[in-house]
Amino acid sequence: MLTPQSPIPTQFVSGVQADIASANPSLSSINASASPLMPITNRPEAIMSRGSGSYLWDERGTQYLDFIQGWAVNSLGHCAPEVSEVLAKQSQTLLTPSPALHNRPQLELAQQLIALSGLHQAHFTNSGAEANEVAIKLARKWGQLHRQGAYRIITTDNAFHGRTLATMAASGKPEWQKMYQPNIDGFLKVPFDDLGAVTAAIDPSVVAIMVEPIQGEGGVVVPETGYLHGLQEVAQQHNLLLILDEIQTGIGRTGSLFAFQQAAVKPDVITLGKGLGAGVPLAAVVASERASCFVNGDQGGTYNGNPLMTAVGLSVLNTVSQAEFLHHIQVMGTTLNQGLTKRVEHHRFKEVRGRGLLWALQLAEPKAAEITARAFANGLLINPAKPDVLRFMPSLRVNSIELEEFFQRLDASL
Ligand SMILES: *Cc1c(COP(=O)(O)O)cnc(C)c1O
Repeated sequence: MLTPQSPIPTQFVSGVQADIASANPSLSSINASASPLMPITNRPEAIMSRGSGSYLWDERGTQYLDFIQGWAVNSLGHCAPEVSEVLAKQSQTLLTPSPALHNRPQLELAQQLIALSGLHQAHFTNSGAEANEVAIKLARKWGQLHRQGAYRIITTDNAFHGRTLATMAASGKPEWQKMYQPNIDGFLKVPFDDLGAVTAAIDPSVVAIMVEPIQGEGGVVVPETGYLHGLQEVAQQHNLLLILDEIQTGIGRTGSLFAFQQAAVKPDVITLGKGLGAGVPLAAVVASERASCFVNGDQGGTYNGNPLMTAVGLSVLNTVSQAEFLHHIQVMGTTLNQGLTKRVEHHRFKEVRGRGLLWALQLAEPKAAEITARAFANGLLINPAKPDVLRFMPSLRVNSIELEEFFQRLDASL
């Protein structure tokens, strides 16, 4: 149902706060100027209370068609039945025995991930940034063992690898390099999709190259065909590790289980997150035999590999890795691409970029925030990845009726 159309709100939703407060007096003390939360982002005032598949509802009962899905997290949609079932069952069986004891879901998920990726061993973490930290540590350890202490990692401009100190340093956001100085040392930045720049940056201190197969947060930047393969060749020539951050592109998002499969490369290390947990905090680092060099004591974490999360991951992986499921992503992705391409012509936008069910619309002007706010008022959640880029990350289970509805709500907002 569409919310009543009012003049374009300057913020996401104006006037909603008063309604929530009157509907629920206990909330009347919660307002933006005296929030119990540390400010990290400008949230709309609506409070989300329920989700199902492609839809989200707030406390007032307003329905939203969700093309953000927790930032490409709810791969199977909100509250996917198999996720809820596994959580209910596992929560009554075993939550956290200890990371120093085996549990069955962790072993099975690791087994499945290495079988499906062609890699050798996995380690689980609670967030993507933490998985990337592990990948960085693994590379540094490998450099100590095999490359006389080489430790630098080549990463790219406009990259996003997370928000811990090391992953912020690895990311390619210029603003971040000044934020929490002193920075973690050991990252060399080169332009994305530029093989020559990578080769030029290599010296004996370099141990690895780390990139996203498609830059997600950076605005869905798809490199030229051959870029990833070229990186693999450069890595082989110079005895470096190739680390692919598949936290956003992995688990079906780009139309294959892993994005690296489309480029026909064999990375040494991949990191996964987001879609792997389908809404619960789960991430992983998976490494080849050559790169998997940790020994006891090198890594750990209280909740790493806990059965509550890994049981969910196993169920998600079993669903997404099915050929029919991946085919559905490709078919829906083609429809989404075609529809967006029509809008490019009609509105004279610049271009559409993406793969599978990860797409971006490059606008001609910096109007992404304004359009996003209008879409919100029209009951559609989309993400302004950049001032002039809109990003779309629907549930991998999105259907053609929902895509039609998406285009209606988007058109009303453009
Ligand atoms: C989201 C994301 C991360 C960080 O994951 P968190 O779970 O937020 O720590 C890292 N890399 C990429 C490519 C991402 O999209």
